[in-house]
Amino acid sequence: MIIIFKLRIYCLKHQLHHRNLFVSFILILMNFGIVPNNSFTNNLQMFGVVLEMTLLSFALALRINTEKTQRISAQHEALQLTQRVSEERRDRLLAQKESLQLQQDLNSNLENQVVIRTEQLEDAMQQLKIANSELLTLSITDSLTGIYNRRYFDEAMLREWKRAHRNKTSIAIVITDIDHFKPINDTFGHTVGDECIHLIAKTLKLSLRRPSDLLARYGGEEFIYILPGSDLKEATKVAENCRESIENIRYDQEGTPVPLSISAGIAACIPNNENNFSDLINAADAALYQAKSAGRNCVRTAEPHTSKI
Ligand code: GH3
Ligand code: MG
Ligand code: MG
Repeated sequence: MIIIFKLRIYCLKHQLHHRNLFVSFILILMNFGIVPNNSFTNNLQMFGVVLEMTLLSFALALRINTEKTQRISAQHEALQLTQRVSEERRDRLLAQKESLQLQQDLNSNLENQVVIRTEQLEDAMQQLKIANSELLTLSITDSLTGIYNRRYFDEAMLREWKRAHRNKTSIAIVITDIDHFKPINDTFGHTVGDECIHLIAKTLKLSLRRPSDLLARYGGEEFIYILPGSDLKEATKVAENCRESIENIRYDQEGTPVPLSISAGIAACIPNNENNFSDLINAADAALYQAKSAGRNCVRTAEPHTSKI
């Protein structure tokens, strides 16, 4: 039986239809009396068909079962693979999300730091600007009186002289000097002397009329005006006003009046190629000397023929 089964399987595999051959062979053997003639051998063809069908059914069932098992196993493997792939994808997505979050955190942290640093830098720049401006103001300001110092006067004088030369316009200066100031110091002390210088500077500053007019402390108790665009007549008016306003100051120390007055020398010219601003200052200085000689508390103008202006 097993031999026949294996033979059928072999025939099936090789698509050989040997059943008929086999039955024909048995029939021949029957005819020769080698195989007994009975109902089994007579219906051998039928048995063969039934057996073949049965075997075929078994083989088919076996094959279907094997294929089913293989399919299920393949499906199972595919499912596992899909699961693994989806897990890997999920892990990768998670990792990407984490990396993105990290990047965003870093960016936002960096942006915050940049904003903070920029603000600090702007603050520092602002403070530096203020400090620079204060330094500049300090470098051109007289500490006792708060008006411009000699350094600034020198710069401004050169600038205004050049401008007047370029524009062929008049420029005037007025040099004032406090009268008998040494006796004030000697009588009331230097602190009072300082107060007087401060008070006189404040009063003189009030006499400035035009935005371009400038007052500076020229020396110890000397002050100087630059009056761009003014001629001798206009400058004399300014100087006379100044003299008057100082004369009118009522200042006393413990009931004792402190006599305050100034003398002024005035000079004006239109700059040309033959003169320079030192000539103008020298002329005003000479005029101041005349005012002092004339008894003080007065103003004098420079004599044009006595200087280069
Ligand atoms: P004149 O009328 O001829 O100008 O006489 P004066 O006494 O004013 O002139 P003098 O040059 O003899 O004296 C000027 C004095 O001004 C001497 C100096 O001690 C004083 N002085 C200069 N600068 C200052 C200052 O900043 N503070 C004080 N308290 N005194 C000063
Ligand atoms: Mg003097
Ligand atoms: Mg003096």
